[in-house]
Amino acid sequence: MSKVNIQPKSYKAFTTRNIETIPQFEALPTEIHDAIQIVSRVMPFRANNYVIDELIDWSNPEGDPIFKLVFPQKGMLSCEDYTALEAIHRAGEPDTVLQAEARRIQQKMNPHPAGQMELNVPKCKGQAINGLQHKYKETVLFFPTQGQVCHAYCTYCFRWAQFVGVDDLKFACGDPEALISYLEEHPEVTDVLFTGGDPLIMSSRILRRYVEPILKRRPGNIRSIRFGTKVLAYWPYRFLTDKDADDLMHLFDEIVGAGFHLAVMSHFSHHRELETEAVKAAVSRILSTGANIRCQAPLIRHINDDPEVWRIMWEKQVSLGAIPYYMFIERDTGPKDYFSVPLFEAYRIFTEAYSKVSGLARTVRGPSMSATPGKVLVDGVTELGGEKQFALKFIQARNPEWVNRLFFAEYDESAVWLSDLKPAFGEKTFFFEA
Ligand SMILES: *Cc1c(COP(=O)(O)O)cnc(C)c1O
Ligand code: SF4
Repeated sequence: MSKVNIQPKSYKAFTTRNIETIPQFEALPTEIHDAIQIVSRVMPFRANNYVIDELIDWSNPEGDPIFKLVFPQKGMLSCEDYTALEAIHRAGEPDTVLQAEARRIQQKMNPHPAGQMELNVPKCKGQAINGLQHKYKETVLFFPTQGQVCHAYCTYCFRWAQFVGVDDLKFACGDPEALISYLEEHPEVTDVLFTGGDPLIMSSRILRRYVEPILKRRPGNIRSIRFGTKVLAYWPYRFLTDKDADDLMHLFDEIVGAGFHLAVMSHFSHHRELETEAVKAAVSRILSTGANIRCQAPLIRHINDDPEVWRIMWEKQVSLGAIPYYMFIERDTGPKDYFSVPLFEAYRIFTEAYSKVSGLARTVRGPSMSATPGKVLVDGVTELGGEKQFALKFIQARNPEWVNRLFFAEYDESAVWLSDLKPAFGEKTFFFEA
């Protein structure tokens, strides 16, 4: 674990409630200012002083990718919903009326994409085990109760329902024993992925309660421990100068020392997030423990829908010693019309960026949809029998026999998700639907 040469920063949180206290907020043009206040009643807002001061370029907020990443935008609501909220806001109705309307809009925004609730939660003697998801044979997702928030909220997040309380944290688990017993009973599992929200928002002491039993008892066949996190992008001081940063680094040391592969699965949406002194120091400190950093993000309209953004981002990741891992396609939830990029365009953006980086950055895979049957890669555009097709491939699948199998769909420039696609060559169904 290396020493730190970064000035500590004390944490300041901003949410929908105190958004007015962000010093730069007042100076925004009135329409943007009002729109943010209105939309943030539906899509939760949260940020902190690092994101506000070090990541956003306030000389041009409307053109700024990080501004769009964290501040709710007018286009995220349908025209009717926005107009309804605006009318209530203008009429000066009591806050409860605005709240009720916001809640109604939230309810219809598909809080559970890809059959998360019904299909992935494992059962034990007919009883669902909350806080665990087991979709792909080798990897169990674990949602620790104290890790179900984030240091800032991404406007495109598909987990927003839990942040606004539509979901009552149905997914979370506070009991490390439940995880250990599940792993003991499932020898096929090699990886535990702590996720959220953001598991690294937890204090090191609480995180340790979940991780130590794995190190000491070595349940089943666990070889890798992963943390799915955006803390590197949203609050790198977590690894540097926060009061339990050294404890966290000790825990990383211990995980690696106990012989586990430790992967910090880092969500980076834009290369800007890799450019501050704090993030560079944090990456280097994490790597000094022997942990790996693997980077992933969705492709998002208005934020990173440009091949240059990805090329630069992957190159910076490699320069810092991190490993490009996944480019995702935006899921079918929340304000997806505002953020979605059609599949053909996602493929073009990926290919253009991928073709410009060295093999060291071509560890990245994508663009990939985390759909109900599995992670589906848009692997190419083909032309057979005088017609165009998408070539698709499972890189993860509910049924392991589907993995790495190619299949084809009719080429369709309006398709944004697997469910929009029709099988090619006049077939009635895709092979996995049988
Ligand atoms: C992506 C994902 C994983 C991890 O997949 P890897 O390809 O091993 O990184 C595990 N479970 C679910 C439900 C996922 O969506
Ligand atoms: S960091 Fe991840 S879980 Fe948190 S708001 Fe962003 S996308 Fe959602």
